[in-house]
Amino acid sequence: MASGVMVFGEIIEGKFAAVTTELLGCGRKLAGDLGQELSVVLAGSGVNTYAQDAVKYGADKVYIVDDPILANYQTESYLAVMEKLVKQVNPQVILLSQNDIGRDLAPRLAFRLGTAATMDCIGVAIDPATKKLLPTKPVYGGNARAVYTYETDPQVATVRAKAVSALEPDSSRQGEIISVPAGLDPSAFKAKTVQKVKEEVKGVKLEDAPVIVSGGRGIGGPDGFKELAEIASMLKGAVGASRPACDSAWMPDTSQVGLTGKIVSPDLYIAVAISGASQHMAGCSGAKVIVAINKDPEANIFKEARYGVVGDWKKVLPAFKAKLKELMAQ
Ligand SMILES: Cc1cc2nc3c(=O)[nH]c(=O)nc-3n(C[C@H](O)[C@H](O)[C@H](O)COP(=O)(O)OP(=O)(O)OC[C@H]3O[C@@H](n4cnc5c(N)ncnc54)[C@H](O)[C@@H]3O)c2cc1C
Repeated sequence: MASGVMVFGEIIEGKFAAVTTELLGCGRKLAGDLGQELSVVLAGSGVNTYAQDAVKYGADKVYIVDDPILANYQTESYLAVMEKLVKQVNPQVILLSQNDIGRDLAPRLAFRLGTAATMDCIGVAIDPATKKLLPTKPVYGGNARAVYTYETDPQVATVRAKAVSALEPDSSRQGEIISVPAGLDPSAFKAKTVQKVKEEVKGVKLEDAPVIVSGGRGIGGPDGFKELAEIASMLKGAVGASRPACDSAWMPDTSQVGLTGKIVSPDLYIAVAISGASQHMAGCSGAKVIVAINKDPEANIFKEARYGVVGDWKKVLPAFKAKLKELMAQ
């Protein structure tokens, strides 16, 4: 019988990934509710050095698959490793992050295992009656939330960054570390990584930013975004944009928030001259607090925002900036 919660762990740019600490935090709660154990898989090259981090953040068991072939994420090799390990360990629940890797791996893994994956969840819980996973995800472009359940095991889900919380690391926690050979035959793989191009980001990355100042078509051109960047930098945040602002090349495509852009969950999302179309909100509805500045009192963004200012951003932002400076000087 399937038992346990398994997290697919990630090491990103030499660090135990924040998304993995978050998955371990919510995985710990799920494992507790099921009365089962929490395990994590760390696959890569040189990943054994991160095993204790996984234990500190809540794992009972750490499966280490350390092989130079796994130095770069590649669908076929990682899928083969996960399929083999899951068949061996037989967990009831598998959690991955809703990032590039999780989006690639989760549905393929679920297909190979003859089960289902729920993508882009903003919450996961255990049904006390059935003991099945109940993932919650936004649907209809972020206009509604749906709760799903499963008919098959393992129950696979990807969870958005910052949607769940990590536990405080505890160095006194004990866990079991198990090395598993990758057992891969590289000649069987049809694709290989020939080049990696790193996206250059000045300051904090959009996905990691606790504060995002985002601009829309109403900003009117690239110069306005410089003003947003100033405020973002005062708040140690990042600048985002709506699709028209990116399509007009006022901002790079990598700044686009929304259904066809990035999905972000900052503590604070300041939407400036953005109408609040459902496709935009699909990318930012996970923000803890939304503040809107828009000259149209009927703009949809005001239905989504906790705080709103009706007015021309060119007049509102200087006052906002002055107040911010005053408060930060205190
Ligand atoms: C399949 C599909 C996918 C899409 N994916 C995305 C996506 O990922 N991200 C995304 O953003 N959009 C996406 N869109 C587009 C989306 O439907 C909207 O068209 C878009 O979000 C609107 O962008 P906006 O709010 O910047 O522009 P608008 O809707 O034109 O709104 C501009 C706003 O600025 C306000 N404004 C104007 N001047 C000022 C001023 N001086 N001061 C204050 N306020 C002012 C106006 O009142 C208005 O509310 C998608 C659409 C489709 C069909």
